[in-house]
Amino acid sequence: MMMKCIYCLEDKPETSYRKTEHVIPQSFGVFKNNFTLNKVVCDDCNKYFGDNLEIDLARDTYEGHSRFEFNVKKPDGYKSYSKNSRIIIRIAEGPLKGTYAYREYSPDNNEIILKPTPQVGFKKLDSNEYEYYLLDGIPDKEYLEKNNFDLKHIQAIKAFGTDVNQLERKLKEKNISFKLVEEIVPPDKSDNLLCEIEGEIDSMRFRAIAKIGFNYLTFWQDTEFMCQASFDAIRRFIRYGEKTTYPLVRVIEKPILADEDSKRRRLGHLVTVNRAGDGMSIVSQVALFNWITYNISLARGYSGERRDIKKGHFFNTNSKEIYELETR
Ligand SMILES: [Zn+2]
Repeated sequence: MMMKCIYCLEDKPETSYRKTEHVIPQSFGVFKNNFTLNKVVCDDCNKYFGDNLEIDLARDTYEGHSRFEFNVKKPDGYKSYSKNSRIIIRIAEGPLKGTYAYREYSPDNNEIILKPTPQVGFKKLDSNEYEYYLLDGIPDKEYLEKNNFDLKHIQAIKAFGTDVNQLERKLKEKNISFKLVEEIVPPDKSDNLLCEIEGEIDSMRFRAIAKIGFNYLTFWQDTEFMCQASFDAIRRFIRYGEKTTYPLVRVIEKPILADEDSKRRRLGHLVTVNRAGDGMSIVSQVALFNWITYNISLARGYSGERRDIKKGHFFNTNSKEIYELETR
């Protein structure tokens, strides 16, 4: 008997469907009565997703980093990207305000710690705060002078995470003189430091997120429904990275749950599917760790069989329970 895969649409024998596809990638938690797909995603597609989309999502993204913060993953599994990370962490308060940092696993404490990225800070003549620049992004002397930075007093330049000689060389190239006054050791613990995290969202991550929404709808529907041509755009984006003229995945500012704001949110993942405002299009919303909300266009202007597809679930990362969301 041949079976159709919802991603590559190929007809394959049952022996090509040995692996289980998880609605939420296992690297983001394994839940009780977990939502899984069997015999709908072929092993080739399953492997492709595991080796590409899921690895990408789990590692160097805000959501990937959060797995360690919220204890979904043990700290010793942390892979540091140090300054090559696409995630930029900046300390948002205290004496290190404005400095750049990266996360690294510390075997001594068995935890993830924040370390300073190599950087230099300049103080403006009329301010007590420093502006920090990564070593590759140090502005020219002319720029600094024009913008009122103090280049005369040695106290007005601060450096972190870098070898003094290396920094001196870098600054000398820019005609800026620098002398080491004292070394400041940044705190080891990241627990009580408020950080701002900036990250670039790339297509790979959007595809991984879109797959969660597509898998979720598949979990509640069936192969035939999901193989309709209305889903081809999102299907080809997830499987092959093909783009369309309209954005298939967008980040929206609003939390998914109506009673939450940007400060107070339940800890876990949220996935919903619903009709869009036009009453036709099928959309999904996904928020891993209930943080960034992604809006996924699963089937724009869907005109196939009418079904009640509205659903939503909350995946509690602490209790490992999955709860159905009440819909209004
Ligand atoms: Zn396939």
